Amino acid sequence: MICPPLTITFLGTGTSSGIPMIACECEVCTSTDKKDNRLRSSILVQSDATTLVVDTTPDFRYQMLRAGVKKMDGVIFTHPHKDHIAGLDDIRAFNFFDDKAVNVYANALTQKALRNEFHYVFAEHKYPGIPNIVLNDIDEDFFMVGDIPVQPVKVWHLHMPVLGFRFGKFTYITDANRIEDDEKEKIKGSEFLVLNALRKKKHISHFTLQEAVSLADELQIPQAYFTHISHQLGKHKEVDAELPANRCIAYDMQQLFID
Ligand SMILES: [Zn+2]
Ligand SMILES: [Zn+2]
Repeated sequence: MICPPLTITFLGTGTSSGIPMIACECEVCTSTDKKDNRLRSSILVQSDATTLVVDTTPDFRYQMLRAGVKKMDGVIFTHPHKDHIAGLDDIRAFNFFDDKAVNVYANALTQKALRNEFHYVFAEHKYPGIPNIVLNDIDEDFFMVGDIPVQPVKVWHLHMPVLGFRFGKFTYITDANRIEDDEKEKIKGSEFLVLNALRKKKHISHFTLQEAVSLADELQIPQAYFTHISHQLGKHKEVDAELPANRCIAYDMQQLFID
């Protein structure tokens, strides 16, 4: 499947608490370097014709304003954890200007959480002004959002299956600590790979920075970027400088241009 040229924007690169974390006075949370400010993890994927977002974080409203997003053709969800779905209600602003439902793509596990947490969106008698969405089932099969081809990649977040997504030469994987060999095959050949890398110290459900670097090397990915960062990782400038060539810590509003 032909993938059009894409612009990727990191809308947020922080772990569930964001950076700075509320009430924290550590050197990362009090840093004056803008790259140490991280909203919750999400990306914007844009072709000339299509705009989609992966996950709607608690910071979704501000992320849309900050990136100047004017239309939304699709929302794709990775998994039902709060830091990845909480902002869905604010999708309704796009309904006001577009007067049509926004397509939401989620697997059964995530759909169950959406129906729970946003019950009013699915009510039989709807209150005016609530989000107008259409739920589309996805699992492990390829699908299209407008002119953008999407290949799901199943990864593991401790015991929870999470979906990563490959868009042509670019693959985005957040919230994983293990990937099975069959799924690694789907990532191979990507020129750009985003992986979650929480911190340096071992964690039960996220890759560490070293694990993420090793995986990018194992899969022979030319350019890798790390996201879902904890304040425990350290300052962007210092940690990024320690990494090998073409292995980088992503930062908020960083853009990648994929031809
Ligand atoms: Zn997360
Ligand atoms: Zn998670």
